Amino acid sequence: MIDLNLTPEQLQLQKKAREFAESVIKPIVEKIDGSNNTNLSPWDFCQDIFRSGAKLGFTSLLLPPEYGGMAGKCIDFVLVQEELGAADVSIACSYFNLTGAMSLFIARVGTDEQKKRILSNITSGEPLLFSAAESEPNVATSDMFCPIRDPQIGMKTFARRDDNEYVLNGSKSCLVTNAGIADGYFILARTSKEKPLPESMSMFYLPADTEGLNFGKRTEMIGWKASHHAELYLNDVRVSKENLIGVEGQAGQLLMLLPEVAIGLAASYLGLARAAYEYALNYAKGRVSWGRPIIEHQAVALKLADMMVNTQAARLMVWDAAVAADTNPQLAATVKAPTAKTFAVDVAIKNAQTAVEILGGYGVLQEHPTGKFLADAWIGYSCDFTKDILRLGLVNFM
Ligand SMILES: Cc1cc2nc3c(=O)[nH]c(=O)nc-3n(C[C@H](O)[C@H](O)[C@H](O)COP(=O)(O)OP(=O)(O)OC[C@H]3O[C@@H](n4cnc5c(N)ncnc54)[C@H](O)[C@@H]3O)c2cc1C
Repeated sequence: MIDLNLTPEQLQLQKKAREFAESVIKPIVEKIDGSNNTNLSPWDFCQDIFRSGAKLGFTSLLLPPEYGGMAGKCIDFVLVQEELGAADVSIACSYFNLTGAMSLFIARVGTDEQKKRILSNITSGEPLLFSAAESEPNVATSDMFCPIRDPQIGMKTFARRDDNEYVLNGSKSCLVTNAGIADGYFILARTSKEKPLPESMSMFYLPADTEGLNFGKRTEMIGWKASHHAELYLNDVRVSKENLIGVEGQAGQLLMLLPEVAIGLAASYLGLARAAYEYALNYAKGRVSWGRPIIEHQAVALKLADMMVNTQAARLMVWDAAVAADTNPQLAATVKAPTAKTFAVDVAIKNAQTAVEILGGYGVLQEHPTGKFLADAWIGYSCDFTKDILRLGLVNFM
C-alpha cells in the first residue's frame, strides 16, 4: 500500500522551508527582479540566502550521518525544493539543488578522503557552493546522450594523465551555473581520445583557486535573474589524482545514478507551478468584472481548476520519482526522474501562461511576478538536458 501522508518531521521540515522561502528568499528576489541594473551581481544578494539555508541543513539533507549529514530521504529533499522553487526557481536550482546533489555525488562515489575533506565542510553548515561543468561552447550538450560510438562526437575538454596528476585543457559554455562564484567545481573531461564519450568521461573536483581555472563575465538570461552563469576556461590546469571523483572514464555511468539532480529540478519547477497558480487564484478572488469577482466566471474558474489539477499531478510524479530514488535508483534515473522533470516543467509553463491570461493586461506588467514566472518556466525546458532529449531517452524504456 502506498502511503502519501507526510510524517510530523516532514511536515515540520516543509514548514521550515516555507518560512525560509517567504521571509528570507522572497524579499531579496523582489529586489533583484525589480532592478533594471544589468551590472548587478545577484550573488551579492544571494550569498546571505545561501549561508542561512546551508545552516538550516538544506544542502546536507541527503548526506549520510557518518559525515554529519541529516540522512534524509529524497522526499525530504523534494519538500524543501518545492518550497524554495515557489519563492524563486533560479535560487532553488542554482544554489541549493546543485550543491545538494553534487555533495550527494561525492557521498556516493567519492573516496573516504574526499568525503572527509569536502563533505565535512558542508555538513558543518559552511556555505560551500558548487558548480558542475559539462556543456561546451561549440558542442551540442545533447551529444551526452548520443548512442553512436564515435570518439569524435561530444565534449572536447581533455584531461591528460601526467604521473600523479591530470592536466586539463578546454572551455565550458556560458551557461555553466555558478561559474566564477562557486567554491568547488566538478569538471567533466575526456580521459581518452580513442573511446566514445560515454566511456571516456571523467569527473574532477577543482577548488576555486586552482591555477589555470578562469571565468568569463556573467551571462544575461531572459529569466533566472537571481542566478549566476558564465563561461569557464581550463588552461593547463593541474589536478592531483586524488581529485578524480569516481572511476576514470566512468563519470557518465556514475552520473546516471544521480537521479536527484533531475528530481530536485522537477520539485523546484513544481514550486513555480504552485506559485503561479496561487498568485492567479488570489488575483481572481479580488478582481471584479460584470459585478463579481472574476473567479465566479466559469471561464476563469475552469482555468484555475486546471492549474490546481496539473500542479497536484506534477507533485505526485515528483514524489513517485523521489520514492524510486531511495528504493530503485536505476528506475528513478532512467524513467521516473526524467518523466517528473518533463511533466513538472510543462505544468510550470502552462500555469505561468495561464496566470498571465488571468491577470489580463496586468499579467505583463513588471510589478506582477507573472512575466517572471513565464520566463523562468521556459528556462526549465533546457536546463540540465532538453525536454526532447529526456523524452528520447525514455524511448529506450518503453
Ligand atoms: C538555466 C541553465 C542552467 C544550466 N546550467 C548548466 C551547468 O551548470 N553546467 C553545464 O555544463 N551546463 C549547463 N547548462 C547547459 C544545458 O545543460 C544545455 O543548454 C542543455 O543540455 C541543452 O544543450 P545545448 O544548449 O547544447 O542544446 P543542443 O544540444 O545544441 O540542442 C539544440 C536543440 O536540438 C535538439 N536536439 C539535439 N540533439 C537532438 C537529437 N539527437 N534528436 C532530437 N533533437 C535533438 C535539442 O532538444 C534542442 O532543442 C544550463 C542551461 C540552462 C538553460
